[in-house]
Amino acid sequence: MRRKIIAGNWKMNGDRDLVRQVAERAADSAVEAELAVCPPFPLLPTAASQLPFGVALGAQDVSEYEAGAYTGEVSAAMLLEAGCRYVIVGHSERRTLYGEDNDRVAGKFVAAKQAGLTPILCVGETLAERDAERTEAVVGEQIDAAHEAAGTQAFQGAVVAYEPVWAIGTGRTATPEQAQAVHAFIRQRVAERDGSEVAEQLPVLYGGSMKPDNAAELLGQRDIDGGLIGGASLKPDSFLAIYQAAAEG
Ligand code: PEP
Repeated sequence: MRRKIIAGNWKMNGDRDLVRQVAERAADSAVEAELAVCPPFPLLPTAASQLPFGVALGAQDVSEYEAGAYTGEVSAAMLLEAGCRYVIVGHSERRTLYGEDNDRVAGKFVAAKQAGLTPILCVGETLAERDAERTEAVVGEQIDAAHEAAGTQAFQGAVVAYEPVWAIGTGRTATPEQAQAVHAFIRQRVAERDGSEVAEQLPVLYGGSMKPDNAAELLGQRDIDGGLIGGASLKPDSFLAIYQAAAEG
């Protein structure tokens, strides 16, 4: 049985006060599901010291390099030292706004794993790709790129987040059936590459306008193992309500 994970991606939002509010509210978190918070880099030390035991910390990006002359970049080892367990790689905003392609994202995936972090690999299609019935081709390539770079058992100790680009920050959510179909495809693809044992243990999160009022139905799908939450993670009440739905589901 896969334990559900609810992870908040704050993007370039939040401050120390938001860390404090989430830390206070998360003190009542349950054991049935995992809660994780991914604030911007400068808030990691505050979050590491304030979040209650059991609430995991994550970063939103990582360098594919170990160290060196890469101004502005942060290495996986630095994130580990800062208290992170998770790091998001390949978020669609990084892919679209900063031109990260599958190879670069795969390099970040490998760097995270090698340092002992759990990468949350974001995959997902644009609306044009969905309309052209290319969802499986696009998501399959994104999965394969990480697999080719990381080698056998690539997805052991990793998390995948299916985030249809057309549902991120738009208020438009994939229906539970649409999301379930792609989640099942991802698990199948990972089973073909890494074997069914790795695939069955792999948490596959859904991201894209998940909110308290749609969380339970999405999280009730067989292959949806949690959520990567953007906008709603900035409102502690909403974030914790989604977490509650995961813990009760
Ligand atoms: C995200 O950016 O990862 C995300 C899922 O955002 P939102 O929940 O705001 O759609």
